[in-house]
Amino acid sequence: MPAFFNRLRNRLRTTLAPVPDIPAGLWLQTLQRHPFLAALDLPEQGKLRALSALFLDGKQFHGAHGLQVTDAMAIDIAAQACLPLLHWGDPRAALGWYDDFVTIVVHPGEAIARRAHLDEAGVMHHYTEVLAGEAMERGPVMLSWQHVEDAGHSAQRGTNVVVHEFVHKLDMRSGSPNGCPPLPAGFLGTHSARAAHEAWWATWEPAYAQFREAVIKAERFGAPWPWLDAYGATSEAEFFAVACEAYFVNRQRFAQEFAGLVPVLDAFFRPAP
Ligand SMILES: [Zn+2]
Repeated sequence: MPAFFNRLRNRLRTTLAPVPDIPAGLWLQTLQRHPFLAALDLPEQGKLRALSALFLDGKQFHGAHGLQVTDAMAIDIAAQACLPLLHWGDPRAALGWYDDFVTIVVHPGEAIARRAHLDEAGVMHHYTEVLAGEAMERGPVMLSWQHVEDAGHSAQRGTNVVVHEFVHKLDMRSGSPNGCPPLPAGFLGTHSARAAHEAWWATWEPAYAQFREAVIKAERFGAPWPWLDAYGATSEAEFFAVACEAYFVNRQRFAQEFAGLVPVLDAFFRPAP
């Protein structure tokens, strides 16, 4: 069937047919495995469950290297992927942020990506990169189950691979990821898209510069490592994704480390109704 009709069929199915509920037992287990989900209040958990059910209805999971993606695994991934959308009103509209792809590929362990880089002298360098996850612009999301499975524990360190990759997806809605997702009209009381971006970067640029400096001091000068994942120092897009991981899974510690970023992330992820 041509892709268009497939899409149309999916659209009809998702807009007209009722979406099956996530079974209560499986949902409870997902909450229990993830302290940052268990900590949500009951109305928030209800909203997240509805979002996750819609997400599962519209996405396809593919296990790589023979991995069987069970319902429990898919629900774990869906709940964490939907966490950033929790305060964006109507679930179907909120899930529109993820409507540019269908497939989520789950690897049992870390995935090895072959990369090539052309240097300034015109020499091509081939190397491999070990990945816990990857998000492709207008394409699928890849996750390593080994890392997804660890989410309950790694929340202590403020890390979460699912949030990381899906926040890249949000960032990519305005083109190549640059650490600034599309901002809503009136963001932080601004009156133009330009002013909204200026308000965003006025907070993020100094925070990123300061974090990079802290990582460089740790790497080269023996200073203590910062709490936030040092991978965030590789680019502004990664800093945004890494900061969001911590914001969603360990807000208390994140607020101690990056008090200035909390109001900006709240303005984006928890807009006033
Ligand atoms: Zn990343």
